[in-house]
Amino acid sequence: MYEVDYGVIGGSGFYSLPSFKKTGEINIKTPFGNPSDDFVLGELSGKKVAFLARHGRHHTISPTEVNFRANIYAFKLLGVKAIISASAVGSLKEEIHPGDMVVPDQLFDRTRHREDTFFGEGIVAHISFAKPFCEKLRQRLLKSLSKNKISFHRSGTYLCMEGPQFSTQAESLFYKSMGMSIIGMTNLQEAKLSREAEICYATLALVTDYDCWHPVEEEVKIETVLEIMEKNTKNAQKVICDVIREDSLDDCECHHALKNAIVTDKAQWKISTYRKLKPLLLKWEERNGK
Ligand SMILES: [Zn+2]
Repeated sequence: MYEVDYGVIGGSGFYSLPSFKKTGEINIKTPFGNPSDDFVLGELSGKKVAFLARHGRHHTISPTEVNFRANIYAFKLLGVKAIISASAVGSLKEEIHPGDMVVPDQLFDRTRHREDTFFGEGIVAHISFAKPFCEKLRQRLLKSLSKNKISFHRSGTYLCMEGPQFSTQAESLFYKSMGMSIIGMTNLQEAKLSREAEICYATLALVTDYDCWHPVEEEVKIETVLEIMEKNTKNAQKVICDVIREDSLDDCECHHALKNAIVTDKAQWKISTYRKLKPLLLKWEERNGK
């Protein structure tokens, strides 16, 4: 087992973490297949960090094709305690402008073709997911955003759609009328799997555009969107590095998410599933007895 402290997942337009000292790269195989890419390892103010490009460093993996289980499992093997996800999103509210950042506190699932649990096949677990993001990590992100004087929103609901196509206008207007704040294609599975893996997880959502519900959106030029994405990425890199520098990696309730979640009696656990999930179950076994 490695002893990396933080994981960072970079989404569209966010393929590296410039201010950390790179110490190497590592290719990790998991029982769930291959992660999106090799992990870039590095250090920042004495903390060990692993960076992963969600869509691969050359952006070759679509949202539906991302192997979320392999990605999160590999972070667990690296020993990561907290994951910060940087994700490009569309805005579903007039007051959330392109160029703003949002630290969502809720998720809404509209995906259809994805694996989103490590459990099953003889070991059943039901984790609590009422609050899908780590509140401690969210607060750290908010503090850093305010320090860096970036325009941001303290909360919001991230609607996760399947993609890869963007929404129809009817869908976009419906999500908006339901009170959703932002729309993206990747964070739902990452949040669920991180919770099952007892890793803190929070999102820094980078708003690139108004989704197609907005009348102005039709006039938006691709250059404008790219410009905003570039500015967002630079700001996000600053904010994330700041969080890692300042954070103290305290114990968090996310690190105990499985405590009362496994309903299958240990005597009944299927051995092949147990072997596959062992890195996720080590702490549960320490707590609950072998
Ligand atoms: Zn946490």
